[in-house]
Amino acid sequence: MTFSSSGIRYVFLDRDGVINRKPPEGAYISQWSDFHFLPGAESALAALNRSNRRVIVVSNQRGIALGYYTAADVQGLHARLQDHLGAHSARIDAFYYCPHDKEQCGCRKPGPGLFLQAFRDFKEASPASSVMIGDSLSDIEAARRLGIHSIFIQGDPETRKPGADAAAALADAVSGSLLQAVEEYLS
Ligand SMILES: [Mg+2]
Ligand SMILES: [Zn+2]
Repeated sequence: MTFSSSGIRYVFLDRDGVINRKPPEGAYISQWSDFHFLPGAESALAALNRSNRRVIVVSNQRGIALGYYTAADVQGLHARLQDHLGAHSARIDAFYYCPHDKEQCGCRKPGPGLFLQAFRDFKEASPASSVMIGDSLSDIEAARRLGIHSIFIQGDPETRKPGADAAAALADAVSGSLLQAVEEYLS
């Protein structure tokens, strides 16, 4: 372990593959009916809230650029997600997403833009007080470039992405799920 959990006040989370089940490659989640929580995700979020950390979702939503769904769809989905979490005494403090296609912007992870937006909004936040939890190499690379701590979610071996080994090697820690990561490193 290369960071002290007590110093971590800001928890950045990727969405698909961390909070909810990742869609098959090339598929996108734009509707609540396709959003399936991974086991323990709601309790993990509630535990982070209780520990008085801010929970910030940073997500690539290239499906908007491809015309599969709109920014309004993403916001509608996040509103449903927030309602659902409310029933579990949990909440997400902020959502940031990149609506662009590959190599068009500075915000698509592994670019830094979404994190920089959050650091503008959360004035007390800093890389040293933040951790990124993600299931893609791009999540871990983005964190690494900014000096943010990182935990790689290994997930289901069946749906493991290319780059998983590199991500595991680059991250400060590896966990099987968001719940495990919170229990092991952030409780
Ligand atoms: Mg993901
Ligand atoms: Zn972008």
